[in-house]
Amino acid sequence: MGLTLACKGLDPKTDCPYVARGENMDELMADMGSHAKTVHNYTDEQLNDPKMMEAVKAAVKEE
Ligand SMILES: [Zn+2]
Repeated sequence: MGLTLACKGLDPKTDCPYVARGENMDELMADMGSHAKTVHNYTDEQLNDPKMMEAVKAAVKEE
């Protein structure tokens, strides 16, 4: 069992097909964090924003 987080789930305006995966929240956030920074030019500040964290929690799915 693992967790997935679709890029689209975080930003409905994007048509990015990326889906981050991880065994736990730490792995999942590490995966999505590096994707968001390299592909979408997010900053650590944006990723650590409480609103972003809420969006992440709402969009995470268990497999
Ligand atoms: Zn993306």
